[in-house]
Parts: sequence; C-alpha cells; structure tokens
Amino acid sequence: MAMKQFKAESKRLLEMMIHSIYSQKEIFLRELISNSSDAIDKIYYRALTDENITFNKDHYYIKLHADKETRTLTISDTGIGMTKEEIENNLGTIAKSGSLSFKAENEMKDGQNIIGQFGVGFYSAFMVADVVTVISKPLGSDEAYKWESKGADGYTITLTDKEEVGTDIILTLKENTDEESYDEYLETYRLRSIIKKYSDFIRYPIKMDVTVKKPKEQDDEELIDVVEEEIINSMVPIWRKNKNELQKEDYENFYKEKHFGFDSPLKHIHISVDGTIRYQAILYIPEQIPYDFYSKEYEKGLELYSNGVLIMEKCSDLLPDYFSFIKGIVDSEDLSLNISREILQQDRQLKFIAKNLKNKIKKELSNLLKEDREKYEKFFQAFGRQLKYGVYSDFGTNKEDLQDLLLFHSSKEKKLVTLEEYVSRMSENQKYIYYASGENHTRIEKLPQTEIIADKGYEILYFTDEVDEFAIKMLLSYKDKEFKSVASGDLGIEDDQESSVKENEIDKELFQAMKDLLSDKLKDVRASKRLKTHPVCLSTEGDVSIEMEKILRAMPDNQNIKAEKILEINSNHDVYQSLKSAYEEDKEKFQLYTNLLYNQALLIEGLTLQDPVEFTNDICKIMK
Ligand code: ADP
Repeated sequence: MAMKQFKAESKRLLEMMIHSIYSQKEIFLRELISNSSDAIDKIYYRALTDENITFNKDHYYIKLHADKETRTLTISDTGIGMTKEEIENNLGTIAKSGSLSFKAENEMKDGQNIIGQFGVGFYSAFMVADVVTVISKPLGSDEAYKWESKGADGYTITLTDKEEVGTDIILTLKENTDEESYDEYLETYRLRSIIKKYSDFIRYPIKMDVTVKKPKEQDDEELIDVVEEEIINSMVPIWRKNKNELQKEDYENFYKEKHFGFDSPLKHIHISVDGTIRYQAILYIPEQIPYDFYSKEYEKGLELYSNGVLIMEKCSDLLPDYFSFIKGIVDSEDLSLNISREILQQDRQLKFIAKNLKNKIKKELSNLLKEDREKYEKFFQAFGRQLKYGVYSDFGTNKEDLQDLLLFHSSKEKKLVTLEEYVSRMSENQKYIYYASGENHTRIEKLPQTEIIADKGYEILYFTDEVDEFAIKMLLSYKDKEFKSVASGDLGIEDDQESSVKENEIDKELFQAMKDLLSDKLKDVRASKRLKTHPVCLSTEGDVSIEMEKILRAMPDNQNIKAEKILEINSNHDVYQSLKSAYEEDKEKFQLYTNLLYNQALLIEGLTLQDPVEFTNDICKIMK
C-alpha cells in the first residue's frame, strides 16, 4: 500500500505545530472532543432541514475508551463522519480545515496567516501519539475508511468496516520520557479531570467506562470491580441557565468547583447579553483577599469559553487592573478563534465584552454601596486599595469611574464615608476637603496640624494607605471641592486668630536664626496659624507630602525625593517665650532649643531622627 505524502508545507507546519503551538499537551483531548462535538452539531443541523434524518438525542454522544494493554486511547463519536474525500482533504493536508480550505490556498504564502486562519486542532493528537488512526463512516454511506499516520512521514488510507455512522480516533500513545508521562492519558482520573477542565459544558454527553467497586451480590460483603459507563461532563453550563432556576448555593458551588477561592463569594453577578455580540458571564467578588493578591505572582483574568469550550484559563484582557480581584467566566459564541484556540484571532469582540463587563461590575459595586453598606465595607476593606490604585494609575483615566466607589475614615463619623457624603456635609464657608495622612487613626488623631480644622468643626478624612495621597493628587477635587492636606501651607481658613500671629521684627529675626541653623533640613521656619495647644509641627509646600516622601524613600528606585518642609512654631505657646529669652540671652541654649523643637516635629510625623543619641543628650542637658 502506497504511503501518501503530506503536502510540502504541511510537513514543516506539522513539526512546528506539534512542538510549539500549544502550551500544554493535555489540550489534545479538548481539540478532539471539540471536533466530535462539531461533527454531532452537523448532524443536528442537517436534521433540522432534512426530514429523512431524525435527531434522536440519546443516540448522540462522545465516548472515551482507554486500553492499557495496547496503550491506546480512543475517542469515538456518533457525529456526521467523513467520506474518503473529506478524510483526504481534512486530514491529508494539514492547515486545511473543512470550512476554510479556499481561504487556505490563497493565504498560504503568509506564514502569519497560516497560523491565524486554519484549523489544525486534529494534529495536536501528535503531541501525545506516535500513531493516529481515524476510522470514519459518513452519514448516508455504507463505506467506512481508515486513515493512519505516524506524523510528518505521511499517511495511508484504506477501506474498512465500521458499523455505525461516526468517527473513531485511535491514539497510540508515545513512550514515556523523563520529562513526560504519556501513560497518564490512559488513567480514568486524569482523563476525567481534563474533560472537567476543558469540556465540561460540551452539549453532548462525554462517556467513559469507569471501574467501580461494588458488592458481588446484594448485601454481599465482598466487593468486586465492575465496569460502568459514566457521563463525565455536566453538559449544561450554569451560565446558560436561567437566573431564576439557580440558587445562591449553585453559584457558590460553581465558585468552589472552579477553585476561584477557598472562601465563599461575597457576591455573584450573572450576565446574559443578547446584542450584536452575545455573551454570558458569571462573575464573583471574593469575600477574602487571595493570599497572593498584592504580590507579583497574582494573575488577573477570567476563564474564557467559546460556545461552551474553554479556550483560555486567564484572559487578562477582560478585566481592568483595578478590578483584578474579580473571578469568573465568560462564554461567547461570537469569538473568532485561531488555529490553537488559544490566541484570539481578533480582539474587537473581546474589547467590547471587556468594556461591557467593566460597566456591569462598576454598577454592581455602586448598588452594593447603596443597598448593603456593611457588605460593601467588607468588600472595601479587602479590595479598596485596588480601586485607589485604579484612580491613580493610567494617569487618572479612570478616576471619574472610580471616585464614587472610594471610602475613607472620617474624623467626625468615626467610620468609613464616601466623598459624596463628605461634600454633602460641608459647611458653607468650608473651602476644601481636608485630609490627614499617617500610619493609623490614633496617630493621625493626635497630629497637631489637625487642631485648627477640628476646632472649626470641619471633617477630616484619614489616609492610612500608602496609595491614598497619590490617588487624591490624581483626583485633585471632587464636585469642585479641592482636596487639602491638613499639613499644607495654606489651609484656606480665614481666621480671627491671624492678627495674633503677626510676626514682629524680633520674631522675624528669631525665625531667620532658626532657619539658618536648620538650613539644610528645612525650607522655612514660621509662626503657625494652625497650632493651638502644641508648640511645634511640620507643614509642607509643593506636591510632595511627608507621607509621600516616606513611601518614595521605601521604594527600590527612590530618587531621594523630599517634601519641602516648613517648621511651624506656635508663638502663643509658653515654649515660645523660653525660646525668645534664649535667643536674646544665650545663643547656645537657643541652638539647643531649636534642635529639640525640630526633632520633636520629626517625631510627631513619624520621621526618623538623624541623630537620636544627640536628641536624648539634648534632653538630658535641659533636665540638668
Ligand atoms: P478545525 O476543527 O479547526 O476545522 P481540525 O484540524 O481539528 O480543524 O479538523 C479538520 C476538519 O476535519 C474539521 O473541520 C472537520 O471537517 C474534520 N473532522 C475532524 N474531526 C472530525 C470528526 N470527529 N468527525 C467528523 N469530521 C471531523
């Protein structure tokens, strides 16, 4: 019998494809099962138009049979089958999938297009098999043909017998190597898990013979091995079901089955869109932060199905970074796929779906905020930081979308509030939205800088996340109200106090003298308008705050960016009188006081002292 050669290009392609197109060998099964499912679809559609064919649902299935003796795995289907010509055309020429053969010929020159356009899923069988045998009997014929190939060498095609219409694909598995065990594709548990992973929602039953232990006779103690046929796939995807049919538990089970998390989801979103681009999705907001969420290892993405077949486990293009905590699946029948079903041919549909999902998630979160504050706060504690990153990243492109989802701790309410709530409570003469940054609430509460604002009865938002100030710098304002740090130079508070802090000549000289002593550390020394009971504090000018300086310093590529610091002195404080006398009478003491006050201001801000030993020595000097 003459061995037929694959077409020249095919040979090269076959080699290439076997070694490089697919990332994992196990997907050969997905490819073959998908082909079988397509073949059954074809009978189904034929039956719709041809009265002579009746589509009896029970007769259509896919069956796997593993034989350890012969090291073969057989995938059988009762689909439409192939004629001799079809076998030659579809399997004889690689890169010539049934539906695309014309296109194929025209675009053969462009290597890129070859990968992009043609079906070669069938050939993935050669990733795991030395010999691939196809026995097929087409609908409406009595003849069956057998195609056999050992890979790139070529193939044979012979007349054979087959009882039923359909196709058997017999894989003689490769010998195990050091890196790869092919034996595992004969194991029930392994096959089952691959089917569950990729093909669970194929519309037709995928059957397999499994060995189960059973009592020999009823009530018998002794168990024997019994072979039973089992349907492995669940067939109807949960996302195709009607929302009304489903319980909360169903969604929770699916979440667990899919290993989206060990927790229970905080909320699920079931979407079914029937527009120009049709798709279904089930999305989850997890309850707990995945352990690796804030690490580099965490990969965002949704499972992507094309008409019930898994094509990508983590499609990252479907989620913006600020929603990276969302888990779930998307299924669309309108995706165009390429050769390996792994890379999407065109991303127009995908972009559309992504945009749609983004809006739905946003809406769902703002509903949650409105309707179930407690739950929303729980969500925000876990993933709020990610939303703030979203405000800050991409040069603030998404800030409008996200600003109403933000929560900050309020000095007045002693709980998390929205910006909307803050602004709605602002008094008429309050110009700014005030915030204070620090390590934690208690520390912020005690910041001297907050005194005057608290005194005025204005609300202060507490920023304890590193990203907070950066996000706010990006927002700049909310509902035309600018954000203002309590430590910034101008607080916009018209104060009657102001007259009392007018600096006279002596004060000016004194501050200048302090500034000279601290010139390398500070931008200026001034009389404070904001201090009431505290003697000293730091304020800043310019874009970089003290908290930002701390964060930037901790970064690996820190460029020694510093806040422009102002030392503010409370000239109504007793300490100021001591400072004044020292200035007039004892220059050494004045220097000592200056250093002490400066270091105190640093400590209040949680900044490190350059020389803590000197500081403690200074204190001892005073105590003496
Ligand atoms: P694709 O499925 O992307 O078209 P494949 O290389 O997987 O590419 O398959 C090539 C063609 O072979 C299919 O289009 C189909 O016409 C035919 N084929 C493959 N498997 C079967 C099968 N089990 N039953 C009937 N036809 C099949």
